[in-house]
Amino acid sequence: MKTDRRNFIRTAGLLTLVGMTGLESLFAASGEKIIRSSKKGLSLRFLPYELQLQHVFTLANSSRKITPDVLTRIEIDGVAGYGEASMPPYLGESVESATRFLSSLDLGQFTDPFRIDDILQYVDSVMPGNTAAKAAVDIALHDLVGKLMEQPWYKIWGFDPMDTPNTSFTIGIDTTDVVIQKVSEAAPYKILKVKLGQATDRQMIETIRSVTNCPLCVDVNQGWTDRVMALETIYWLKENGVVLVEQPMPKTAIDDMAWLTQNSPLPTIADESLQRLPDVLKAHGVYSGINIKLMKCTGMREAHQMLTLARSLDMKVMIGCMTETSCGVSAAAQLAPKADWADLDGNLLITNDPFTGMQIVDGKVTLVDKPGIGLKRIKKVF
Ligand code: MG
Repeated sequence: MKTDRRNFIRTAGLLTLVGMTGLESLFAASGEKIIRSSKKGLSLRFLPYELQLQHVFTLANSSRKITPDVLTRIEIDGVAGYGEASMPPYLGESVESATRFLSSLDLGQFTDPFRIDDILQYVDSVMPGNTAAKAAVDIALHDLVGKLMEQPWYKIWGFDPMDTPNTSFTIGIDTTDVVIQKVSEAAPYKILKVKLGQATDRQMIETIRSVTNCPLCVDVNQGWTDRVMALETIYWLKENGVVLVEQPMPKTAIDDMAWLTQNSPLPTIADESLQRLPDVLKAHGVYSGINIKLMKCTGMREAHQMLTLARSLDMKVMIGCMTETSCGVSAAAQLAPKADWADLDGNLLITNDPFTGMQIVDGKVTLVDKPGIGLKRIKKVF
């Protein structure tokens, strides 16, 4: 199965490159792909890299032990920046689609990496969708430019690294015993994120409250369909130390959601309802705030624009992630000083992180004073 997929990726990548001029594609034994340009511009390489999860990840009708991922590296004059595309299957991208997308890019036409806007506008224009694959280019380019400037991105953006929030740690829906076990393991975290949206919602909160008093945020993942019931539940949650409610109703229930936000004693946060910059305006007046994730919004450049726009509209901001290596979470963490909440636990859920970067110290997102996105490679995967 693995060999078949690798062969497919190689074939798809090679086929995509047929007919392109000035590009050379190479595969190393590891499956790494290098796109070199005959021009003296940026060179891009990428490598499919399966993230091994610490625990089986269970959804309504599937479970998995890995998350498909592609690592990227953009280089110029011997300086390299790293990026990644994390692609949980339910979001529609795959190693195959990312390979097709990345193979179609000609970054060699750009000799000046500081032209971030031009480069990323080109990347965005090549194909619609592919937001995680686009983020993989965006993050690597930011990392590269930060290294050339010898500054971390939070400094380039003018943020105070001391302003970062605590990160939440997610507790999934499970049996009472497992929930109690997970909550005790999460003791170092100052805020927990609880998945709701089932008939057992109140029982879930009561179970957690039997072992901890720490603040909770809840993520309903569109699970409530009756707005009056939703409002009653939110009042009950507030009495039980919950501080925010993420995506309580289906993303299509816009009128119900606007009513709920208007009447809710807790802030409501859009997640599934929102992907990219124009969605921030649509969420305004419907939700109190937004959850920005690099893999949904094509990366750091657009995430920064979304954050700025949300702030100008007086909306709350959460910065989130998928299951990712330290690369993805360290990129997202650059924005954390301007976020109200962070949900940056993605790298803590995997066992084969090839990098270190942003750290969680006493539950708080802690940025490192290193250029770019602040990564250090601990395992040479490519
Ligand atoms: Mg969510």
